[in-house]
Amino acid sequence: MAGHHQHHDFAGDSLIDAARTALLDQGEQWTGMRADVFEALAHCDKPASAYDIAENVGRERGKRVAANSVYRILDLFVRTNLARRVESANAYIANSHPGCRHDCIFLICDSCGAATHIDNDRLTGALREAARAAGFADVRPVVEIRGRCGDCDVGESEA
Ligand SMILES: [Zn+2]
Ligand SMILES: [Zn+2]
Repeated sequence: MAGHHQHHDFAGDSLIDAARTALLDQGEQWTGMRADVFEALAHCDKPASAYDIAENVGRERGKRVAANSVYRILDLFVRTNLARRVESANAYIANSHPGCRHDCIFLICDSCGAATHIDNDRLTGALREAARAAGFADVRPVVEIRGRCGDCDVGESEA
């Protein structure tokens, strides 16, 4: 189908394997700390801050983890496509397709804060084209949609 390509979304242990493979393929090491940070991130269904992750990893390891070192790892994950930054939530989310680059379109629930995403390369491709036509170079669409997720919408009436 036009504007579509084959890609696989991962979850759970297979997501962690896919992330490790993607990081190693880019010449980076999969250290114990990086593995712990990725695992903590992958277990969040809401975008997580470096502080949230530092707290979770610290609890798992039984010793305090500095938010700064978590922040540096998250930064590396974003650069290597293992994680995405959700700008409107000022937080991070694990990328469910670490081997495959897309301009993900994030959906963030105003009610419970859960974040999911959809991929539509035709839509984001049109955004890129429009930005280039306006003289922008090195364009990078950031697309985030706020609303109410399917779970929160159940039972909500229009009253
Ligand atoms: Zn995506
Ligand atoms: Zn919700």
